[in-house]
Amino acid sequence: MAINGSTELIAELKSLSDLFESKQPQEVLATALERYAPKIVLACSFGAEDVALLDMVHRINPSVPLFYLDTDFLFPETYATRDRIIQHYDLKPSQVLQVKSLLTPERQAEQHGEALWSKEPDRCCQLRKVEPLTRLLNGFDAWITGIRRDQAPSRANAGLIEWDQKFERVKVNPLARWSWADVWTYIRVYEVPYNPLHDQNYPSIGCIHCTAPVAPGDDPRAGRWKNFTKTECGLHKS
Ligand code: SF4
Repeated sequence: MAINGSTELIAELKSLSDLFESKQPQEVLATALERYAPKIVLACSFGAEDVALLDMVHRINPSVPLFYLDTDFLFPETYATRDRIIQHYDLKPSQVLQVKSLLTPERQAEQHGEALWSKEPDRCCQLRKVEPLTRLLNGFDAWITGIRRDQAPSRANAGLIEWDQKFERVKVNPLARWSWADVWTYIRVYEVPYNPLHDQNYPSIGCIHCTAPVAPGDDPRAGRWKNFTKTECGLHKS
């Protein structure tokens, strides 16, 4: 039976989240995995936060699956990072869930016009990220994300664990309190494989069409949807 966001559950998650404010991400993860495995999945775009989280999850429960939203527009470096991660952690194919749009890029162009991302990025993200994620999450009660409060104003109030109204699932954000520097300290200490684009001024890595490098000192997400006011792909806003 699907989990439901009753008032009691939402209040319980809020109390748990408040308790987690003084805990390390690994403790948040351990509790979430204990409660929700095997109906919990890690969202992984193979960016810095996600690979750090993957390493933590793997040390606690190596059977937890991850998924990635394969928009068909990912960088070659992102696919290569995926392959290195699979090898490094010896992940089984059943643990790495590739989630794709119902529309091929060609079909999308026929139905919605060429280069939709350059005209209506919200619609493109809806077709290539939000709908596929909704479909994937139907099989789970909870998902783990790498969002951090200091990434964007829209993420400033993220709980360590919370009810996700949009996808009607429990959402676990173990790194909510961490800084960018904390993430990199973890990656260096534990020698976690990471996307080499991070070393080429790409702090935030999404689709090829909507990701540009940033200048030193710029907002780390300034390279996403550069010519639009858009700041989120729609996965982390209600
Ligand atoms: S990030 Fe850009 S290319 Fe990727 S799904 Fe969104 S609008 Fe489309």
